[in-house]
Amino acid sequence: MNKQKIALVTGGTGGIGTAICIALADQGRKVIAGYFPPEQEIAEAWQSKHRDNGYEFEMVACDVSDYEASEKMLHDIESTIGAVDILVNCAGITRDKTLRRMTPEQWDSVLRTNLDSAFNVTRHVVEGMSESGFGRIVNISSVNGQKGQYGQANYSAAKAGLHGFTKAVAQELATKGVTVNSVSPGYVKTEMTDAIPEEIRDAIIQQVPMGRMALPDEIAYVVSFLTDDRNTYMTGANLPVNGGMYMS
Ligand code: NDP
Repeated sequence: MNKQKIALVTGGTGGIGTAICIALADQGRKVIAGYFPPEQEIAEAWQSKHRDNGYEFEMVACDVSDYEASEKMLHDIESTIGAVDILVNCAGITRDKTLRRMTPEQWDSVLRTNLDSAFNVTRHVVEGMSESGFGRIVNISSVNGQKGQYGQANYSAAKAGLHGFTKAVAQELATKGVTVNSVSPGYVKTEMTDAIPEEIRDAIIQQVPMGRMALPDEIAYVVSFLTDDRNTYMTGANLPVNGGMYMS
């Protein structure tokens, strides 16, 4: 019998991350949800709520914008649970401002959390995946990394950077049984988009041919497709899941 594969989802307790954890668990994976260390209490409540619903998620605290902390996280996971077979880089933040008002701190924090994090975490799983001959890496990018977005020079740059990162690493791992792909959601109903002022949110929805935001499950389904054992020949791809907002 094949061993149960281990999946790490960074930002696992967030809106989209939660749906991904559930989808991967439903696929039979052992799922580890990464969370931002200051949120320990919230993360424990999250874990216990899902336990009540029959989901036994492992939890790991790590600021993924920090290289050493990410290295330690992967080391700890490997020694206590096992090597990661599936990685979903989902942690992300926004700090929106037009460029003329954007501070270096707003630029840095978004680049570090959304882009550097993919390097920080992925760097420590590629060797193990290559040696085992199986790996699935999915980077959660954004429609705004494809088309750009007013007020999001930092976020659009970071998410576009993830596309380049995905394609480069996909080439490096192509002969190792490890696939690397990105998913670019459009607007998804989560706390991140609940924070957008209502009139802007309504204007955004008007630009979506489907006339609504995505539900987190709709993104998670595509991630579970990419990480499926049978999905062996798709690598370096970006799957847009945006209700037709930006067709590419
Ligand atoms: P959430 O804010 O709900 O989830 C993001 C998660 O990332 C949170 O759990 C957050 O923790 C965590 N996180 C933030 N910074 C760090 C860090 N330094 N280290 C570890 N974890 C961190 O947002 P979504 O679920 O909406 O977003 C998930 C991903 O999807 C993000 O990458 C986002 O950019 C992307 N996305 C979202 C879209 C949307 O419309 N919602 C559209 C397109 C892409 P905490 O809550 O403690 O900050």
